[in-house]
Amino acid sequence: MNRNAVRTTPKVASMALNIGAYVRISQDDGANRESNSIKNQREIIKSYIVGHDEFRDAVITDYVDDGISGSRSDREAYQRLLADIERGAIDCVIVKDLSRIGRNLIDVDDLLMNYLVTLNVRFIAINNGYDSFAHPLSNLELAIINLANQHYNKDLAVKSMTAKNIKSKRGEYLALAPFGYKKSETEKNKLVPDEEAAGYVRMIFSLAVGGHRTVEIAQILNAQGIPSPSVYKIRNGWKNMWTQVIDPDYCFWTNGVIYKLLKNEVYIGSVVANRFKVTEPGTGRTAPRPADEWIVVKNAHEPLVSEDDFQKVQLMLPKRKYFDKPEHIFGNKVKCPACGHAMIHYTKQNPRFKCGTAKLTDHYGCANHTILQSDIEKAVIASIRAYADALLDKEEMKLAHIKKSKVSIKELESKIAAENRAIELLEASVTKIFTSFASGKISKDAFLHKKDIINDTIARKRFEIEKWSERLYTLTTGRRTVENSIGELESLRTLETLNREIVNLLIDRILIHSDSNIEAVLYGLRFPSQFRRYRAAQQKW
Ligand SMILES: [Zn+2]
Repeated sequence: MNRNAVRTTPKVASMALNIGAYVRISQDDGANRESNSIKNQREIIKSYIVGHDEFRDAVITDYVDDGISGSRSDREAYQRLLADIERGAIDCVIVKDLSRIGRNLIDVDDLLMNYLVTLNVRFIAINNGYDSFAHPLSNLELAIINLANQHYNKDLAVKSMTAKNIKSKRGEYLALAPFGYKKSETEKNKLVPDEEAAGYVRMIFSLAVGGHRTVEIAQILNAQGIPSPSVYKIRNGWKNMWTQVIDPDYCFWTNGVIYKLLKNEVYIGSVVANRFKVTEPGTGRTAPRPADEWIVVKNAHEPLVSEDDFQKVQLMLPKRKYFDKPEHIFGNKVKCPACGHAMIHYTKQNPRFKCGTAKLTDHYGCANHTILQSDIEKAVIASIRAYADALLDKEEMKLAHIKKSKVSIKELESKIAAENRAIELLEASVTKIFTSFASGKISKDAFLHKKDIINDTIARKRFEIEKWSERLYTLTTGRRTVENSIGELESLRTLETLNREIVNLLIDRILIHSDSNIEAVLYGLRFPSQFRRYRAAQQKW
């Protein structure tokens, strides 16, 4: 599916407008189930369409998803709607309210920015009072509308947590089976050893009991070519659409993975649940809970390691927490191009980055050098400036083109106003000739003839108005969009300091090459929709 396809044929006003009416009912609707019934949603959309003259000749296509949660995006009718939008078969999408599209900001933002704005498709959310042609979209506006949807999801998350906890207390293992185990085929949510992987787990514990440090264990496993948990999952046909695609060529044992494995009580037969709480409902973001809130059930399944060995290893493991590093503006975006992994951030003395793979395996030929964070910042700023510079030229040309446009916005506005006045007069004159007819001054035929002529004139004028309105819309929103993006680009062109927000918005990844060359790969700008997801050509510093 090509999400960035841009439809080039200009739309002609009104003529057989194609409306996609999207209707969805879900288990999540709970108490609102009645008001969200398919029938009710359809009726609301139908009466909206009837109440709006501009839709009088529209062709309406129904897209109905029945009973699937809005947190999932693989809804069949919804996918069909997106495909139809892409092939240009839909001019306008109407829903009862925004939560029909999805429960979180990302879903709705994705639809609006990637499909509707790019393809110039109108979007109406009736109960939110939202019409994209009346209020051109901005991320901020959407964020506000979406707050309501997010609150809804929060309640839902609490409810399903409670149900999960009851199952966990019975010793059921609800997550995907951890490395070394698989789910039983006869007992629901019960773990049984997966013999091959279980062997590797036992080997890791026995190396640890023998006094090997985590980094040494990782080295040994990598040297022996033992598959890491990710590689093992892929080899065994494991698929999960919610996580990133894993490239088996860049998966190896790290000390972090070994550390987590050695800390996991699942290997002495315990189920540990409720360790995390949802912090931002709808986004899947979580934070750890204090240990006394955990649910721990012992002897829930066959252990792979004895309790004695496990406790011995715990005493030997370093107290240091691997995953609690102080944050820095680059997150995990600084990467080693040889192994593909995020580089490790060191904060002693001058903050700097280094690839952590070199010490674990020599398979990828990772460079062993460190690079200063301040150098990376300089390189990234230079890339962003060059990028903004290049785009600015393009946008300025666009603006000049719009300004040169033969018809000005003012002219169009006064033309439309004049035609509207003319229509009012014509309508008044119909009333007048009707009075003449009623009082016997003119014949019925003469009345009907005159009335037809006037009605034809009115229809022609309405058609003209629609044409001009369409043009006016393109001119005003086009100009506003271009002016906004010029403003943003100008501030980026003179960018002095980086912060996390700018990095998150613009930078996909930063590659540190073995010759110390720093390469910033940019996403493109999010705000002006036409650049969204645009990936700048690789810019070297
Ligand atoms: Zn590397």
